[in-house]
Amino acid sequence: MSIQDNIARVQERVAAACRRAGRGVEDVRLIAVSKTFPAECIREAYAAGLREFGENRVQEAAAKVPVLADLNITWHLIGRLQTNKARRAGELFQWVHSIDSEALAGRLNQTRADDGGRFTVLLQVNLGDEESKSGIDEREVLKTAEAVGQFSQLDVRGLMAIPPFCKNPEDARPFFRRLRELGGKIRAARVPNVSMQHLSMGMSHDFEVAIEEGATMIRVGTAIFGVR
Ligand SMILES: *Cc1c(COP(=O)(O)O)cnc(C)c1O
Repeated sequence: MSIQDNIARVQERVAAACRRAGRGVEDVRLIAVSKTFPAECIREAYAAGLREFGENRVQEAAAKVPVLADLNITWHLIGRLQTNKARRAGELFQWVHSIDSEALAGRLNQTRADDGGRFTVLLQVNLGDEESKSGIDEREVLKTAEAVGQFSQLDVRGLMAIPPFCKNPEDARPFFRRLRELGGKIRAARVPNVSMQHLSMGMSHDFEVAIEEGATMIRVGTAIFGVR
């Protein structure tokens, strides 16, 4: 199967999940996760119509983003970001899904304070997964949203989560639901400069369930580019 065929197949799955959930396909943005795959694969996916790509490491993105500068791509950082790489990340990406602290948000904010540009961020939530430990503790998310909302160059637009791996995607449903409910709570708190319009959740094996639970951005790697 070519990348083009894979994308068509993913788009069919997205459409079917949207139908089941009574949602429009335009409400779900497909982020093609291109980590470990070379720039040529990204060009292929771009030729098939995709415009949003996700990378999980700043260093890897630094090698690919410049050689693809002729394309109209929106780049999403979906992996953990160290504060000492915030400046470089600010140069390469338009979105960061993995904001897990006020300190990191502050560093990103600084990178844009110089040029007056803006940056869109999501808060990554740790949904009680003991193993990964990345993301903000569920009980701290509102407090972090209030703090990050104060940074002048950042637009907080929603939440992101990586639930623990579940062999059966149905088992991930309670996690996706919890992220949606958490987004609702924060929305109700009306935090200045914080909107909860996006939920970044769902990967190759479970994005249908995520869409049924309200995902507005799904991050899909394997189902588009193949096994890493
Ligand atoms: C790699 C990765 C994905 C994509 O995973 P697939 O199972 O290949 O679709 C999504 N989100 C994050 C944060 C990732 O690191």
